[in-house]
Amino acid sequence: MELVIANELDAFSLGKLRQDVVDGKIHWRDAQSLICAYYGKKKPWQTKEWKQKRNELIADRCTQCGTQKLPMVLQHTWHSPDIFALKKKIRASLSVEWKEWNEKYPRSRAYDEELIGLTGKNPRQLLKEWYDAFDESHGVTRDAFVKWLDDHIRYMSCEDTITLCRRCAFVSDKTNMILCVICRSNYHSPKFERCFRCAEIKNEKESACS
Ligand SMILES: [Zn+2]
Ligand SMILES: [Zn+2]
Repeated sequence: MELVIANELDAFSLGKLRQDVVDGKIHWRDAQSLICAYYGKKKPWQTKEWKQKRNELIADRCTQCGTQKLPMVLQHTWHSPDIFALKKKIRASLSVEWKEWNEKYPRSRAYDEELIGLTGKNPRQLLKEWYDAFDESHGVTRDAFVKWLDDHIRYMSCEDTITLCRRCAFVSDKTNMILCVICRSNYHSPKFERCFRCAEIKNEKESACS
């Protein structure tokens, strides 16, 4: 089996790898090792394709505060769920299979003292084995890996990005807060429509008018 990436792990080779996993031409585990080995040497944002996309998409002004003070950052507004969350979702869609499997191989066996004594393993290890066995026999890990690849291809496409100045990017990375559209100087949680200070001003105005 040929496991060679020509030059770069770009959208084309990622798409091909995905298809090969779906078609069973390559085991998902081999595909995963290949990707890990590649990104171990070169991060996604160090690839030629990424740099090219960044240059095409990055604006010369911050979408949030409007500053033109360089440098600008191309910020992702969407983050893919991790592989554990993906596996959980796939398992939830297999409720019938899950029930059957549990009847055949009761999960409670992981707490069976006799089995623990016999194997020398603790319940946590036994539970992990139980999940792994279910995942393996129902293609859960493979499907989760394929979904992860889809998400990764989307991430690499930079389609969900905005241009932010360094300050706004920093706040967004560290706190998930957004810039207040009213004063354009304070940040607040996306749950609210304005910052604390602007909310106070609004309240004062409203109570003054009533
Ligand atoms: Zn900004
Ligand atoms: Zn404000």
